[in-house]
Amino acid sequence: MVDLIVIGAGPAGLSAAIYAARAGHTVTVLEELVFGGQVATTPEVENYPAIRKIDGVEFSMNLYNQATELGAKVEFAGATKVDLTGPVKQVWAGETLYEAKAVILANGAKRRKLDVPGEERLSGKGVSYCATCDGAFYRGKVTAIVGGGNTALEDALFLANNCETVHLIHRRDSFRGSKILSDAVIARKNIVIHYDSIPTEIVGESTVEGLSISNVKTGAAETIPVSGVFVAVGLAPDNHLVEGQLELENGYVKAGEDCATNLPGVFVAGDTRTKAVRQIVTAASDGAVAAVNASTYLSSLAAE
Ligand SMILES: Cc1cc2nc3c(=O)[nH]c(=O)nc-3n(C[C@H](O)[C@H](O)[C@H](O)COP(=O)(O)OP(=O)(O)OC[C@H]3O[C@@H](n4cnc5c(N)ncnc54)[C@H](O)[C@@H]3O)c2cc1C
Repeated sequence: MVDLIVIGAGPAGLSAAIYAARAGHTVTVLEELVFGGQVATTPEVENYPAIRKIDGVEFSMNLYNQATELGAKVEFAGATKVDLTGPVKQVWAGETLYEAKAVILANGAKRRKLDVPGEERLSGKGVSYCATCDGAFYRGKVTAIVGGGNTALEDALFLANNCETVHLIHRRDSFRGSKILSDAVIARKNIVIHYDSIPTEIVGESTVEGLSISNVKTGAAETIPVSGVFVAVGLAPDNHLVEGQLELENGYVKAGEDCATNLPGVFVAGDTRTKAVRQIVTAASDGAVAAVNASTYLSSLAAE
């Protein structure tokens, strides 16, 4: 049995592993796909403090090397079942059972997709799921953003500061986001709002050249020339693994800034927890907090 199992080797999970290993604990990290998580899929990161610009794969590699060199063990296996309720935390990856005194859940979240032709092919070539991350690459250009909630509205305003024109595509005739944000978007001269409209295709040879949309009321169709399409139709957490054991809110694991869950010895870090800002820096921060609190929990067991 190890001291700590971390589920997920993204920025949150590997940061947790770094802190826990440095605190002298035995740590196993389970990863079902590739280390680095969502970061591994982004060509460039330029908003992580003290790193001016870095390739997502290099960032992920650095994180992985740092965690493993400090002694954390990364197993490439997806957690398929857990029992987190007792003092011995049990995590299965298929038939293999891993046991630990504490667990940090850092399984991230996935950006919802549009599921239109061109989206997959042009992902990372003009199609982005994160305006805060990639918006600065479109300075002076014409872009589109799809969505109508607070994230889409915030992203539209963020893009409008950089881009010549931002086309905002929303499937309803009014926004779901807050009034203050809606008013700010409506007042912005370089945001063109396309209400009652849905995207039907993202066009372009090797990079995005346009977004085809259709009006759901009139059926009118058009292709807007844009060099970037931002998708802000929500994040999708996948917490079926812990359903019934950890408290969830809209699919996210409920936890505050201390990253503690409703179960003793179980912590949650990164995009998978209830929080306002889902970025690498906040995931890393959660990882540190969760690991320090897990370490305190482990020390309390040792003192018993
Ligand atoms: C295209 C893109 C570009 C981005 N660019 C930036 C940027 O420039 N700057 C920025 O700050 N943020 C950026 N973000 C957001 C940032 O990547 C996330 O906020 C951050 O990665 C969250 O880290 P995390 O560790 O919580 O989750 P994730 O990165 O999602 O990592 C979770 C990991 O857990 C693994 N996992 C899931 N379920 C299981 C399981 N059952 N068993 C084992 N492993 C499991 C996943 O495979 C994954 O590796 C970007 C996101 C995307 C999608």
